[in-house]
Amino acid sequence: MDAETVDLLVIGGGMAGLTAAARVAARGGSVVLVEKAERTGGSARFAGFVWTAPTVEELRRVNPDGDPDPDAALVDGFGDGVAWIGSLGVECRPPVPVLGFGRGHQVDTNHYLDTCERLIRDRGQEVLTDTWTRSLVTENGVVKGADCVLPDGSARRIEATWTLLATGGFQGDPGLRAEHVHPQAAEIGLRANPHSRGDGLALGRTAGAAFRKKDAGFYGHLMPAGVSLADPARFVDLALYYSEHALLFDTTGERFADETLGDHLTTMALLERPEARGLLVADARVHREWISASYVAGIPGVDKFQLCHRAGARSAVADSLEAFASMPEEWGYPGATIRDRVREFNAGVGAGGTTAPGRLLDRQPLDEPPYYVVEAAPAITFTFAGLLIDTQARVLSAGGDGTGPVPGLLAAGADAGGLYRRAYAGGLAPALVFGLAAARTALAGSPTAPAH
Ligand SMILES: Cc1cc2nc3c(=O)[nH]c(=O)nc-3n(C[C@H](O)[C@H](O)[C@H](O)COP(=O)(O)OP(=O)(O)OC[C@H]3O[C@@H](n4cnc5c(N)ncnc54)[C@H](O)[C@@H]3O)c2cc1C
Repeated sequence: MDAETVDLLVIGGGMAGLTAAARVAARGGSVVLVEKAERTGGSARFAGFVWTAPTVEELRRVNPDGDPDPDAALVDGFGDGVAWIGSLGVECRPPVPVLGFGRGHQVDTNHYLDTCERLIRDRGQEVLTDTWTRSLVTENGVVKGADCVLPDGSARRIEATWTLLATGGFQGDPGLRAEHVHPQAAEIGLRANPHSRGDGLALGRTAGAAFRKKDAGFYGHLMPAGVSLADPARFVDLALYYSEHALLFDTTGERFADETLGDHLTTMALLERPEARGLLVADARVHREWISASYVAGIPGVDKFQLCHRAGARSAVADSLEAFASMPEEWGYPGATIRDRVREFNAGVGAGGTTAPGRLLDRQPLDEPPYYVVEAAPAITFTFAGLLIDTQARVLSAGGDGTGPVPGLLAAGADAGGLYRRAYAGGLAPALVFGLAAARTALAGSPTAPAH
């Protein structure tokens, strides 16, 4: 390699990419980071909690079909990741429970991302925004950098010992969503940065990378159906996290999931129902205790029903269950059936009996009028399918036995797949942990050297 070859080329400047690049720069390595958008940060700019499962056993319990080795590396590397954030002078607040089983820290992600970028530049390394990548440079099967296009349209070849794919997944591309998530996913709302459109996957696959997609699912939340998500402030404000305590009915008037297991899981289930829309029904107690209350400790509560209503969502307050029978026809739901199902549900859980689907974590009846009704639809934050990696963030090859790495190629964050399958334990944490792993691998030397 000649003098202009950097230790690490990073493609994508969000949580994973900035983490890897900053760590390499901090340790005296050379790095170029290429970001497609005008500004770095990606979806991480909207996120607030760095968290994951507290133990490998707990992660396996909620995510039994994840790849065991990267999953263990995620949990094992989490403490070092949090320590790295703190070492940059960015505050990690005291630990709080997340989603019932997880644990994590509130972090000012914008402070973290900007600190990483400043560190890279201060060490004399490059951050190129508004720059896209045309293709990877490969030589005898070894990835040696990429051909990029600068904002003025000129081409630049960036040669690197290691190249990290960190473009944030493919949720921004409706066609890829339809192909790899679900046919109805083409039409769902995007609750994320608009630039993550599968570029990392496409680049990786040209180099022979293995791609895991089968029924992997996605991370997202229920949002009010038909409401524009163009303003990123709505990603959190309008998310219907409280669905865990409500009842969700599809257009046939039936429940289809145990809502109490998590809004993110119900979101995946709703995508597979007719027209991928449903009616979310809460009563006055749920409104008081969950709709207007805080979702995660430290974040003040807001009345989401009011916010959805004001945003133009299909929504109503019903004085009694009987009023469901006169639901407007154009909504397309059998109101009388939903009324009966709520009554049956209340009779079942009230008497300590069973309900179908089950109701594991909140078995209180919804019997206190008025009823708050919002039409909900799934919105996607990031995809779980992606390039397979090992614990050192090296991309695995699709050829041969499928276990050897593609020399010179790394992936981290949502470009990496296999970690979660229809389960979720944090998005920032995998980007952080495998971003740091990628930096370690790049700092350890050539891809053709013996494994470390
Ligand atoms: C509203 C919201 C709230 C969230 N809250 C949390 C939370 O509290 N906790 C949590 O753990 N997770 C949360 N997440 C998820 C978390 O933000 C992501 O999981 C995380 O940012 C993934 O990191 P990443 O580096 O893979 O992708 P990103 O951080 O999205 O970065 C990807 C970057 O790649 C760039 N890019 C795309 N294509 C190219 C290309 N061809 N060339 C160069 N650059 C490219 C993008 O512009 C972007 O800057 C939230 C996400 C959203 C949207």
